Parts: sequence; structure tokens; C-alpha cells
Amino acid sequence: MKFSDLREFEDNLVIETELCIVGSGPAGLSIAKEFIGTNIQVWIVESGGLEEEPQTQALYDIENIGVPRHINQELVRNRIFGGTSHTWTGRCAPLDEVDLQERPWVPHSGWPIAHKELEPYLERAGENLGIGPNCYDEQLWKQFNVPSPVPNIKSALLKSQFWQFSKDSKNSKEPMRFGRNFTPSNAPNINVLLHANVTHINTNLAGTRFESIEASTLEKKHIQIRAKVIVLACGGVENARLLLASNRILPHGVGNEYDVVGRFLMDHPGCILGGFDPKHSARIQSRFGHYWLDNQQGRHLYLHGLALSPELQAQEQLLNCAAFLEQIPSPDDPWCAMMRLKNVGKRGELALPWDQSRTARQDLLSILTQSGTVLEGLYRRFVQHRPSIIKAERIDLFCLVEQFPDPESRIMLSDQVDALGKPLSKLNWKISEQERHTVYRLGQLICQEFQRIGLPQPILADWLETKEDWRANFTDRAHPIGTTRISIDPKTGVVNPNCQVHGVEGLFIAGSSVFPTTGHANPTLMIVAMSIRLADWLKVRHFSPQEKTYANREKSGVI
Ligand SMILES: Cc1cc2nc3c(=O)[nH]c(=O)nc-3n(C[C@H](O)[C@H](O)[C@H](O)COP(=O)(O)OP(=O)(O)OC[C@H]3O[C@@H](n4cnc5c(N)ncnc54)[C@H](O)[C@@H]3O)c2cc1C
Repeated sequence: MKFSDLREFEDNLVIETELCIVGSGPAGLSIAKEFIGTNIQVWIVESGGLEEEPQTQALYDIENIGVPRHINQELVRNRIFGGTSHTWTGRCAPLDEVDLQERPWVPHSGWPIAHKELEPYLERAGENLGIGPNCYDEQLWKQFNVPSPVPNIKSALLKSQFWQFSKDSKNSKEPMRFGRNFTPSNAPNINVLLHANVTHINTNLAGTRFESIEASTLEKKHIQIRAKVIVLACGGVENARLLLASNRILPHGVGNEYDVVGRFLMDHPGCILGGFDPKHSARIQSRFGHYWLDNQQGRHLYLHGLALSPELQAQEQLLNCAAFLEQIPSPDDPWCAMMRLKNVGKRGELALPWDQSRTARQDLLSILTQSGTVLEGLYRRFVQHRPSIIKAERIDLFCLVEQFPDPESRIMLSDQVDALGKPLSKLNWKISEQERHTVYRLGQLICQEFQRIGLPQPILADWLETKEDWRANFTDRAHPIGTTRISIDPKTGVVNPNCQVHGVEGLFIAGSSVFPTTGHANPTLMIVAMSIRLADWLKVRHFSPQEKTYANREKSGVI
């Protein structure tokens, strides 16, 4: 990969290339990777640099007029090479089959892509993310090398849900951060242009063909890039903002003939369903904790939780929803104490200042006074092949719920502008009663089933039953979805099943903005799978040898 910085270029330069990718997050870089070793010239245009920069990050400011956003908005999206994978947690799961189906009780549901078609892409996406096999069902017990837990939970009501955690190939303690570690240096056809903020997408006058993009540094140095094909991979909010703000030629923005761009904004509202008594929950922690899968690529970490079965979703007209344990470790948990001491030792900081060494002494004491717990943990690790159970101060039952696709939940352009004079995104994010009801039913069913099979039950949160003011209990999860949704019909979607903007030749979109529904699964695995699928399509349809010959002849004026 060849890195350059727009700040060091001449002003008003024009670059011509074959493929231009805007954004270098998991979506953009996964597409670029597929073109390594080809003779296609690729330019990745990235707003950020290699380090965090507050002024660049401020270009992501928003105006919020919807449900209050709980997460610090500066942390929700990262404007840096590698995108938001700079701070992501790395939890991965695919959407379920039911998530892609048209469900009569979920208006605007249904993907024009079959789940089966995505399987090979999920497999390839797993390689990019450093995760284990593309398997997320009960067959995993065998692969974990542990007996499947008994007694069984009624599968017609609740199903086991597994998530696995992404791993950087060069640092297994970190999720894949899609920055420098992701792409090899020997990729001469891939150019990365840093500090280049795309400000406008230019089309022909009819808005039917992509022509070029304009980008600028914060210091207002400009560049124009003309490309045969462009892929916007700027994240779930920014893809829509850029289309809407590209309104010099078409007043409503690019690809927005039917006023769909920016609509159907969704996330995965998260909430604490309830909690368990930490003193009497060892069985819950054991069954719904972490598992290991060892294979040739090393050790992979999984989390086991519960989700509503597809049958029950259909029967009760619910959305998809999953719950898992979030454990807050007790300050004297011996395993955390060991980790802290190990890290102190690693950093060569044994000669600690007084206050830190006091903590080190306390940590040592925690380990020595709880030798029984440590031995139990060692037994689990080395005999039962499971991570040890931590001593928890609090055990929450946390849940993520699918959103009801609502055209009124949307991104618009604000009257406020950023440092480049571009309108901020105005977010009117909505959460519907269906989300509350679904979460409530999941809580009830977990209590019912745990009681039936003799597991400790959670104490459900009071707000679940209230009909008012319940929205404040949900938090946004940094998963903006749906704002340039896929549909066969341009009246109900922004991109077609190949992720091309309807009616605009050469303009494609990658990322969660194309998902028409959210499921409950964290989005990045699906983002990467869909991006690889798009790269395959571009290679065959736009850059195959026949296509290239045609394009060259066209350029030289032969045809
Ligand atoms: C704290 C946190 C934890 C998360 N944990 C998880 C998790 O466990 N599992 C999961 O699946 N997801 C998680 N996510 C979400 C995950 O990070 C995103 O789904 C993923 O990064 C989206 O990839 P993307 O490439 O579509 O967009 P991004 O990663 O957001 O990349 C977009 C890129 O486009 C660039 N860009 C934007 N606008 C412009 C412009 N105008 N010109 C040029 N460049 C531009 C940006 O600088 C950025 O590099 C988490 C997010 C956060 C914040």
C-alpha cells in the first residue's frame, strides 16, 4: 500500500483511477484487500490520519433531535485510518435467517438476498476478522470440547446465541483494528490518501452516472478524483450525509429521487433487563459465560447467551432479541488481580510508586486468601477447558434488540455546518413500543425457563412494565444501520441488491447503511461479508478482462 497525505499535494490536483473507495474502516479496507495483486488501480480516500486528531474527529459532530444518545458521540465513530475498528470491541455474530426474511409483522422487512448466498462471504469475512469457524449453533459444544449444558431450555421459546471475538493476527489480545496491521505493504496498486475529506459527489447533470468526488483537507487544499467506480464506505451515518449533502447538481442529493436516503435509521438499542444475585449465580456464570475453541489458528473466545427463537418471534409477532451476562468484577477478584500483576511485571514496573504498590500488595493478598477459587479456576482452565469464573460484584443481564424499521427515524441535514462548511447530520433516531415489548417478553421467558429447569432467576428491571418514560433505559450502541437500505424497488431503497445506488451508474455503497433490517447481531461481521460480496461483483462486472479491454478502447476513442 502506498500512503500519501493530501496536505502535501499541490492544490486542485485531479487524479484519475479505476476504483475509488471512500473510507478505510472494516468495509473500505475489506474491499481494497480483494483488489491486492490485481492490475486495478485503487485509491482509498480517508478523512483521518494514522493518529487520533480532535479537529478531524469534530467533522463527525451531529445535531440530535431524537432519542437522547447516551454514548459520548465522539467515541461512537472514529475518523482515522482503520475507521471505527480503532475502538471497537470485536464481538461478532451473523444475522439469523429470520432477519433476512420478509416478516408480515415487521413492515419493510426482507432482504433481496438469501442467507445461504451470504454463507461463503461470512467464511471469508471471518478470516479478515481473525475469528473461528462460521458456526454459531449447538454444534459448537463439540468444537468447544465440552458437554452441552443440561437441562435443556425449550428451543421453541429460546435458542442458544453465540458471539465470538475478533483477534488481530499480530496481537491476539486486541480485536482486528483494520489499520496498518490489516493490509500488507507490498500492494503497489493500492493507494491510500490521508487527510482527504470527501465533500461532494459529482454526477452527470441527470444524476444517472457517477463522475468524480471532491475532497479537501482542513486547511482547504482541494483535490478531485475521477474514477470508473466509487464505493462509499464512510459508515452508517456518513454514507447518507454525503449523499444528501452532494446537492449542487441535484437539490435533494445523489440517489435520492424518492426521498429514501437517510430514512430508516436504526441501531441496536441496548438495555439492562435485570440482574442476578452474584452470591448465588455460579451456575448461571458457568453456563452463560465464555468458552474456548482451539484450532490451527489458535484459541478463539466465544460468549454464550440466549435469543428469542424464530418460531416464537413469528407466533407473538416480536422482533429479534438476545441477552447475555455482563459481569462487573469484584475489586478483590483473584483472576483480575493476577492479570494486573502480570501486566505490571510485563511493563517492568515492579519498582512502583507507593500508591500503586499498595494495590499490588492487595492483589497479592486477594490471590493468597482465595486460593480455593484460584484452584477451581485452574481446574476449569486445564481440565474442563473453560475460562475461569470471575468473582463478580454485579451480574447484569444485558440485551440488544432489533429495531422496527421506521421511515420517520432518520438522518437529515442540519443548518449547522462543520469546519469545511458542510451541513452536520441531524439525527432523529426513534425507538418504538415494539422494541420495549420484545425486550419485556425476552425477560419473562428467561425467568420462566430458568425457574422450570432450576436455574437462579434474574430480578427483572421495574421499568420493563411501565408504559411511559421507558425509552431512557435504552442506550444507542454505535451501530448506525439502514440509512441507504437495499431494495429491489428504488421507491423503497437506496441501493439495489448489488449495492449500486439505484439509477446512478458507478456509485456503490458498503457498510451497515445498506442493511434493511438490523437483527440483534453486532454488525461488523455482516458489513465485512457484504463488502467482500461487493468486491467480487465489482471485479466480475466492472473490472473483468473483457470489461477492461472495453474500457481502454473506449478511452482511446476506438469505440
Ligand atoms: C466503542 C465501540 C465498540 C464497538 N464494538 C463493536 C463490536 O463489538 N462488534 C461490532 O460488530 N461492531 C462494533 N462496533 C461498531 C463497528 O466499529 C462498526 O460497525 C464498524 O467499524 C463499521 O465499519 P465501516 O467500515 O462501515 O465504518 P467505519 O469503521 O466507521 O469507517 C468509516 C471510515 O470512513 C471515513 N470517512 C467518513 N467520512 C468521510 C469523508 N467524508 N471523507 C473521507 N473519509 C471519510 C472515516 O474516517 C472512517 O475511517 C463498535 C463501535 C464502537 C464505537
